[in-house]
Amino acid sequence: MSKAFFIDTSRCTACRGCQVACKEWQGFPANFTKQLGWGSHQNPPDLNCYNYKVVRFSEHKINNRVLWNFFPDQCRHCLEPPCKAAADHYVKNAVVIDEPTGAVVFTERTKKIPNEGFLSMKEYCPYNIPRRNPETGVINKCDLCFERIEAGHIPMCVKTCPTGAMNFGERGAMLSLARSRLATVKAEFPDASLLDEDSVRIIYLITLKREEYHDLASLKNPVLTRSIG
Ligand code: SF4
Ligand code: SF4
Ligand code: SF4
Repeated sequence: MSKAFFIDTSRCTACRGCQVACKEWQGFPANFTKQLGWGSHQNPPDLNCYNYKVVRFSEHKINNRVLWNFFPDQCRHCLEPPCKAAADHYVKNAVVIDEPTGAVVFTERTKKIPNEGFLSMKEYCPYNIPRRNPETGVINKCDLCFERIEAGHIPMCVKTCPTGAMNFGERGAMLSLARSRLATVKAEFPDASLLDEDSVRIIYLITLKREEYHDLASLKNPVLTRSIG
């Protein structure tokens, strides 16, 4: 089994059902939100140790048309995860690959990684995903709901999505679905593309150029990052 997501942002309405369902499943507490002075409905403003998923909002005016791009951000479960290479340098098996699913899982052993190692993991991650719980010291992120998958269920965020934006299955099937959907979406959005589909298990379809989404364009290329460490 080699699992993957296909996240079709052209179908995302930013309802945040996936974001809330993840917190509910993980048993996480509420976070403080921020509205005034920040200029965005994105809440909480970033990923944190109690939010493995955050729906990012980017607002643009293009050709006199307002476009509001939504992007449910999370760990990409890289095929060759640079965060694991960084973590292994400090504590072996703090980050493991769940073989049945391919999920990249941060374990309780991450609490033994010194702060220097945590910063290294953040630096090596192409998508700025790892977060540390200041109370427990554990470094965490999305675990692909690997325990749900192995129990015969689909990941909680996928189960909750009402629009078909979130899809889950075998990696080959998700790649086929993503490529087929891209061909359709390109008729209306010629700049549409798939993000890093050869190096990740969480495959996104975006409708505009990377520059039109939060900080996507400045994130590192995982193929280049992979050789570090
Ligand atoms: Fe690790 Fe970052 Fe890749 Fe997730 S996205 S597997 S945290 S390198
Ligand atoms: Fe959260 Fe599970 Fe979805 Fe990951 S796969 S974002 S842990 S609900
Ligand atoms: Fe978008 Fe689906 Fe998440 Fe709602 S549940 S924010 S439609 S991906």
